[in-house]
Amino acid sequence: MTIETDVAIIGAGSAGLSTAKALREKGIAFQVVEGSHRIGGRAYSEEIAPGVWFDLGCSYLHLGDANPFKDIAASLDIPLCHERADMFSDENLNAWDNGRRLEGAALKAFLDYRDANEASIAASVARGEDRAIVDLIDMESEFAPSYINGLASLNTLDVDETSAKDYLDFGAGYEGRHLDIPVPDGYGNLVKAWGADVPVTLNAKVEEIDFTGPGVTIKTAKGDLKAKLAVITVSTGILAAGDIKFTPALPSEKLDAARGLPCGTENKICVHFDTDVFGADGTGYHRTWTDDDEPSGFEASVMGLNTAIVFTGGRHAIWLERQGQQAGHDYAVNQIANVFGNDIRNHITRSIVTAWTTEPWTRGSYSCALPGQAYQRETMKQSVEERLFFAGEATAIGVNSTCHGAYLSGLRVAEEIVAALAQK
Ligand SMILES: Cc1cc2nc3c(=O)[nH]c(=O)nc-3n(C[C@H](O)[C@H](O)[C@H](O)COP(=O)(O)OP(=O)(O)OC[C@H]3O[C@@H](n4cnc5c(N)ncnc54)[C@H](O)[C@@H]3O)c2cc1C
Repeated sequence: MTIETDVAIIGAGSAGLSTAKALREKGIAFQVVEGSHRIGGRAYSEEIAPGVWFDLGCSYLHLGDANPFKDIAASLDIPLCHERADMFSDENLNAWDNGRRLEGAALKAFLDYRDANEASIAASVARGEDRAIVDLIDMESEFAPSYINGLASLNTLDVDETSAKDYLDFGAGYEGRHLDIPVPDGYGNLVKAWGADVPVTLNAKVEEIDFTGPGVTIKTAKGDLKAKLAVITVSTGILAAGDIKFTPALPSEKLDAARGLPCGTENKICVHFDTDVFGADGTGYHRTWTDDDEPSGFEASVMGLNTAIVFTGGRHAIWLERQGQQAGHDYAVNQIANVFGNDIRNHITRSIVTAWTTEPWTRGSYSCALPGQAYQRETMKQSVEERLFFAGEATAIGVNSTCHGAYLSGLRVAEEIVAALAQK
């Protein structure tokens, strides 16, 4: 069966849903097709224990007050945990060297080392360069393994693969840049509740986008969709892998942009305990390293839910993902035990280990520019022949790689569509 509409929206994540809502407000007809069985995309919550939600993808409203999901949550009566929005601040940081807490001069040395690296990165970008982070930081320091592990979790690529400019551009100019608001009942659930009023055809994988004629034909697992224009919100991982066939082929600049902004890996391992194993002083963000394992960062019971969430990134995350779920669980439990002691092992109820590298609907976690490629975000967001429009986190300059950046990209593309339809 062939359906006809004005705008075909491919993907029902944050970007696709916000495009749909904005077009609806403007009275423009649309159809949303989603390959998977649910809406939300990389915003997805699972209940690890009764009433305890774990976000496999986005979990913090980054950039605090500037985040549009703050008002969306208020309008839906969904609570946010404002009081822990500064959990990643220096004042609240807990750092552990072989199970010993860094304090006083040792903690200061750790923070000074980080600040010197960040200053070096900023100076390079100010000179107009776009180098790999690895070229700009002190790799010999005793703190280097922990620092580069933290950057890999944040950026999804290792420091030799990460553009210093892309890293620095994130959040530039935003007040509250360092505020990260947790969502007690799940950011994924928030996006699901907000998107629930958008009609979406699920299980409709797009196989081909044919834009040879006037208009666009979208070939899906559930039949064809003919539209005047299409909005593509799939990840750069999906685009670069060629999972969707384009007829004619996409211009090489567009494919180069997707390849220059690969979807790297951040994985999370959530471990739930049957009791509060952390104590009142233990909640918050911890960085920990030992002599015989990869370092890590983890969040412990920030919202009083008896969970710890261990973050992994870059090649180590890919390697660990390939070892399987048990290896991920063991790594996470060891990291938590390094700080809170071996008795925690007696209180584990369950864990959830994410596997974003092999997730077929994203092929990675979120985009990160390769060295020299930060400018590709601009190319990524350009339309092709004013018929194919691109939204999604990779196109959200300065707020890239976030759920609310994806949302804002949907608003941007809706404006572009109004202008394009007016010309037809
Ligand atoms: C581990 C992790 C932690 C994160 N932490 C945070 C955080 O704390 N805060 C934050 O703001 N952001 C975070 N993010 C990033 C955030 O989740 C994403 O940037 C955002 O959700 C992306 O939205 P999107 O609409 O661009 O893409 P997606 O959510 O990926 O939506 C695209 C949709 O397209 C669908 N699709 C793919 N291929 C096809 C096809 N062939 N046919 C039809 N449909 C298709 C997919 O199934 C998907 O639903 C995190 C992400 C991960 C993975």
